[in-house]
Amino acid sequence: MATIRDKATALAKKGPALKGPLLSQINLENAKTLLFWYVILTQSIKAQRHLRARGIVATAREIYTWIAQRVIHLLLRLPSTAEKVETQLNKAKLDIENKLVPKGADVVRHLSLPEHGQTPEWIFSQMELMDTEMGNQANWRHGKLSGAVYHGGDDLEKVIVQAYQRYCVSNPLHPDVFPAVRKMEAEIVAMCLKLYNNPNGAGTMTSGGTESIIMAVKTYRDWARAVKGIKEPEMIIPASAHAAFDKGAAYLKIKVHTIPVDPSTRRVDLKRLKRAINPNTIMLVGSAINFPDGNQDDIEALGKLASYYKIGLHVDCCLGSFIMPYLEKASLANGENGKFKLLPFDFRVPGVTSISCDTHKYGFAPKGTSVIMYRDAELRRYQYYVNPHWSDPRKGGVYGSPSLSGSRPGALIAATWAVMQYMGDEGYLESCRSIVKCARTIANAIATSIPELYVLGSPPASVVAFGSKHPKVNVLEVGDAMAQRGWHLNALSSPPAVHIACTRLTVSMVDTFIADLKDAVKEAKVAPSGKGTMVALYGLGQSSAVGPSMVGQLATAFLDTLYKA
Ligand SMILES: *Cc1c(COP(=O)(O)O)cnc(C)c1O
Repeated sequence: MATIRDKATALAKKGPALKGPLLSQINLENAKTLLFWYVILTQSIKAQRHLRARGIVATAREIYTWIAQRVIHLLLRLPSTAEKVETQLNKAKLDIENKLVPKGADVVRHLSLPEHGQTPEWIFSQMELMDTEMGNQANWRHGKLSGAVYHGGDDLEKVIVQAYQRYCVSNPLHPDVFPAVRKMEAEIVAMCLKLYNNPNGAGTMTSGGTESIIMAVKTYRDWARAVKGIKEPEMIIPASAHAAFDKGAAYLKIKVHTIPVDPSTRRVDLKRLKRAINPNTIMLVGSAINFPDGNQDDIEALGKLASYYKIGLHVDCCLGSFIMPYLEKASLANGENGKFKLLPFDFRVPGVTSISCDTHKYGFAPKGTSVIMYRDAELRRYQYYVNPHWSDPRKGGVYGSPSLSGSRPGALIAATWAVMQYMGDEGYLESCRSIVKCARTIANAIATSIPELYVLGSPPASVVAFGSKHPKVNVLEVGDAMAQRGWHLNALSSPPAVHIACTRLTVSMVDTFIADLKDAVKEAKVAPSGKGTMVALYGLGQSSAVGPSMVGQLATAFLDTLYKA
């Protein structure tokens, strides 16, 4: 490039020989050439980084999939196939609707405001009616669920309701009006920081794990821009990381490199992760534990990389929440026979710069609460939104808020504070002990007495995922057979697997689970029906290049259906 510039100056210096119009013409030509080479250079750096991060095989596969998708999409546009696909999709959409939305002339629908306000008696009788009409509300109490309901017990429920009632109208956006709520939020954050061994750190509450993660991503984006001048930010996440990271990246325009996990340990492949690091990298992600199979990444190794490259490392403890910090105290950290061993994961690991912890999962606080923690208050500042120019008096002056929401429910903060006080260290220790024992009982039962299945990795905490190692057993079929026995489990697609996140509700159901699982495996082996939801949806997702796009369309239809009154 320097030579081109030299030439340009040399030409320009030739002076009199070059008259005005000619001179500008030559400069324009040079500028064009410069621009051309600049674009070529930056694009090839980008391509080379992409190739390094993905590897040649994966890049080739990406290109192949991209072409295959285009081709199949074209084929699908042919009138005859388009019609067939449309019919199938509509049928699937109708199925979703029939499952979710009550049908019939006798269903009472409230589509406009009542002219006169209703009495409380009427309101609660309507709720009663909706619950009975649409499946009974106490359904979840039987405990045949994976995750979903993190219930702390009936007494705790009363404490939550009372705390909520007391601070029903409060809003921490106005700390001068609700000083107690401000104090409780600060104390919740402090208690979590203590639990994760960073008493001098900083954090905020958010509305849930997803918001905590999106805030962390925003923090690193703004930090990297301010401190390192990174304008095209990239982040590197394990394939097992929660979708909230992709969601945050999509919202905040950050490029994501997704790194496969080791098939046997289920931990992120460090060699490939390292290859994906480049000068635009703002953060790495590790989970402790991850959602799909409940295993944890090697946070110490990730911390070393993050320190060396001076980038952020977020540890996702949304699910690990109040289980991971108690494994050591519950004497469950060393595992059994070398399995289920806990690796260091909190702020004691050098290089860990932020951790998300969901109070609304194993903290048993009401839904809509989570905590995002940082190594120090300096980093937390990049999370804030501050607008000093919102000074038009009609708009209300300077505006600052710590996280995504403006007004926030102080009642949820009060209820969370109340729950943490009610549970105490002993309460969480006991809940960790019983829940983790439940998960390990299931994992051991699969390993010792269900030869058709295997446990993914060696999950240290509350989640167990199982796949099939028997050619005649489709594990998604097993999941569907479990659904017929009343279990609400989660399906995973690569590899096909089914998982259960144990909670206080599943603890007493562990023997039933194991017995049902043995039956379900037998059923799947003898007479696979191929008609259940898991097989249909997750099978479809993997069946062809357009599978994901079909599943995407179904997911969109599902979301639409949620808003059908
Ligand atoms: C649940 C979960 C989240 C996201 O939390 P939400 O509260 O559902 O927004 C993030 N990471 C992991 C590992 C989770 O299990």
